[in-house]
Amino acid sequence: MTEEFDAIIVGGGPAGASAAVRLAAAGARVLLAERDRFPREKLCGEFISPECLWHFARLGVLEEMGRGGGARVWETVFYAPSGRGVSVPSAWFGGQGGDALGLSRAEMDARLLARAREAGVTVLEGAGLASLVVEGGRVLGVRLHADGGPREFRARVTLDATGRHRAVVRRAGRELGREGGEWRGGPESLVAFKTHLEGTRGAAGACELYFYSGGYGGIIPVERGLSNICFMVRARDVRACGSDPERVLREVLMRNRRAAETLKEATARTRWFGVSLEGFGRHEPAPFEGLLAVGDAAAFIDPFTGSGMLMALEGGEIAARAVSGWLARGVGKFAALAREYRAAYASRFDARLRMCNLIRRAAFAPAALVEGTILALNASAAVRRRVARSTRVRAA
Ligand SMILES: Cc1cc2nc3c(=O)[nH]c(=O)nc-3n(C[C@H](O)[C@H](O)[C@H](O)COP(=O)(O)OP(=O)(O)OC[C@H]3O[C@@H](n4cnc5c(N)ncnc54)[C@H](O)[C@@H]3O)c2cc1C
Repeated sequence: MTEEFDAIIVGGGPAGASAAVRLAAAGARVLLAERDRFPREKLCGEFISPECLWHFARLGVLEEMGRGGGARVWETVFYAPSGRGVSVPSAWFGGQGGDALGLSRAEMDARLLARAREAGVTVLEGAGLASLVVEGGRVLGVRLHADGGPREFRARVTLDATGRHRAVVRRAGRELGREGGEWRGGPESLVAFKTHLEGTRGAAGACELYFYSGGYGGIIPVERGLSNICFMVRARDVRACGSDPERVLREVLMRNRRAAETLKEATARTRWFGVSLEGFGRHEPAPFEGLLAVGDAAAFIDPFTGSGMLMALEGGEIAARAVSGWLARGVGKFAALAREYRAAYASRFDARLRMCNLIRRAAFAPAALVEGTILALNASAAVRRRVARSTRVRAA
């Protein structure tokens, strides 16, 4: 039996869950399908930018987030390999002030998903994508592995919110015989690791970011007195350390003098997560008829800007606004929705993505250049503030 919705969202991370809440609030019938069962850990730096708190308030989940036991973070300090640091207050990112939040993805994502359910969204957990319902070159819904068998769901529009892997777009590309687009590579093949640590010695209220040859990574306080550590390294450095994240931590990241100091007595309290990163950048936000992409599925911004979750929440907002307007107008041609979403997406994100692409090059520059950049940034608070803002809003 086929079930019908106005919108189907595949992926229950911040992009999918927030779009679902907003669409349900506008009166749409929404299905949200998530492959995992929450709460679940996820590889992420877990730096929640101050503007995300504004989105949480609008989504009606701010108080609930506060119960997650996260840590207030009032500055990010960027450390060159020598240990020289430059501080950027969290308030500069937000524009209107406010601290950032350190909170695990297990806590954050589960709270957003619960909010979606409360808002009237039909949420299916443990429901992975099996295939798409495609007719006449148009995506009309999904088949999910749910409740022990494939179940079919149809909707006027489907949103891919499955993150960097873009499971729905790739599937649509295969089923429609067209390329869904691959990520354009970073400087070279990278691997990211994360765990929660006990016994770190970072400054109170600070997210610390360490640069070292071939990558960067950092710590942030989260709930239960633990710190999240998340870092990116070259795949060849990982191989040289026998693919052991503890060794990579000690032999690559802790070459940074500040990291060596803050992490010397730290021990992992959760299992290590690792993923390879295929590249960064932006894709087509409305790639096929009947299908929109939101969050990382549309664009993956370099993690060191700490704004991926913000972009997911903003993207969810833009998509929900475009879709609910289109539904309210009685569902005209999909091309009209695609046009509106593309335009809103480009005006909100394109300049920011270009700026972050430039900054990313500096992050992977040789050590001497990183040292010089940090020295130069230390000389001017005005320049630091301007660079911080350019990773968030349209660059002036
Ligand atoms: C190393 C690293 C560090 C980062 N650090 C930060 C940071 O500190 N701050 C920050 O703001 N951003 C950070 N980011 C970016 C941030 O993690 C992402 O931008 C954000 O998670 C994007 O949200 P999303 O909802 O688009 O996708 P995701 O959070 O990836 O959610 C996608 C969801 O879709 C589900 N899914 C996947 N495939 C399927 C399927 N086939 N069927 C059903 N469900 C499926 C997944 O289980 C998942 O729950 C970091 C990223 C990386 C790689």
